[in-house]
Amino acid sequence: MYWEKISKSAIKQRVFDALNKNVNYLNGSVLGLPGTFLEQEQFYDFSFLKEAPFLSVLMKNPNHIGCHTYTKGEMYFSGTQQIEIDLLKICAEEIFNAPEFGYDGYVAPGGTEANIQAQWMYRNCFMQNANAKSSEIGVVFSEDAHYSVYKSANLLGICPISIKVNSDDRKIMLDDLKSKLQDSFEKGIRYLIVHLSMGTTMFGSVDEPQAFLDVVKQIFNNYYVHVDAAFGGFIYPFSSNDLDLTFKNPEISSITVDGHKMLQSPYGTGIFLCRKGLIEYVQTPEAAYVYGSDFTLCGSRSGANAVSMWMILMTHGSEGWKQQISGFIDLTNYVCEQLVEMNIKFYRNSVMNIVAISASDIDVEIAKQYFLVADNYNNPKWWKIVVMAHVTKDMIDSFLKDLKKTRKFVNLT
Ligand SMILES: *Cc1c(COP(=O)(O)O)cnc(C)c1O
Repeated sequence: MYWEKISKSAIKQRVFDALNKNVNYLNGSVLGLPGTFLEQEQFYDFSFLKEAPFLSVLMKNPNHIGCHTYTKGEMYFSGTQQIEIDLLKICAEEIFNAPEFGYDGYVAPGGTEANIQAQWMYRNCFMQNANAKSSEIGVVFSEDAHYSVYKSANLLGICPISIKVNSDDRKIMLDDLKSKLQDSFEKGIRYLIVHLSMGTTMFGSVDEPQAFLDVVKQIFNNYYVHVDAAFGGFIYPFSSNDLDLTFKNPEISSITVDGHKMLQSPYGTGIFLCRKGLIEYVQTPEAAYVYGSDFTLCGSRSGANAVSMWMILMTHGSEGWKQQISGFIDLTNYVCEQLVEMNIKFYRNSVMNIVAISASDIDVEIAKQYFLVADNYNNPKWWKIVVMAHVTKDMIDSFLKDLKKTRKFVNLT
């Protein structure tokens, strides 16, 4: 994995050059597009915008509708669309090991849409190629998977199949996988979407595809594998050498990754990636007024989002981002060492920045005071800490100190 860091001024130059290649609503005699710049009473031409490339793109408001790895797309905004293409290239080829230009993708509103997009694509593929009925299609995932798999299954009319995990190591229970898949087969499910996580939201646990797929193959001939790296995609590839959940593994056909989780980009920065030859299944041929047709769920989307992610990746370079992540992992290590010392039960994947503390070992008041997030607010079993950019060692120390006080109290009683 490698991409070059570039200077602030070079980033700025590139973004303004891109804007200059876009159609400009101010002076382009644009009469036919159902789009325009941002409302000008509120968002007028502040002088500092010359120094603010992202805000300038936001103001000029380019639409990135369509899928620019597949077709040229709307020609009006080809400047900033090229930045999206460059962004997808880094994510697909450098971070997730896709072959050069061997993928399609787009910047989606978030991980939820990217996950829905994947299931939609595979469902249509099974329907078109094998004449499958939606009632014959299932999606299988660990009980720790993100709830968007349920949204998607519900929307698409396919069957959700949730598999239990061991409470302590959050690993899939392979015997439960086998029996649930056998049951599903008996009920008429013939086509399977396998939804694996690179970093679950609550635990940061990472699924192991080999063992999972060994069981799938015993029962199903037809399956596709999607990887939900919404949370872990900008962490795990930088903190481990494991490539099993990347395109290096021929079993993996698509990946979701979110910029607005770890990359610190604004909301609206999910990414959907899939191997070439699949995105056609979600083409909407009726989208005749969109130049280059549409392959996305959302339709119109802001070019500024793609530009923001590209700018962040360029600011750090791959080495800089690795360092940043390594700082988060070190601080997480520190939290865990202290918890071990206090004899507090927790789960943590050793190369992730999430610590889930057993609810039995932490006072609810402390959890609330430090905004820890519960797995389930009705009946919490775990409270999690996520070591993000704003989390300092001081905050952690203060938390640990408070935790220790109540811990002593618990021991005395
Ligand atoms: C946050 C998250 C999602 C959903 O992403 P949104 O951007 O909130 O739509 C999906 N999967 C995982 C693992 C996540 O952590």
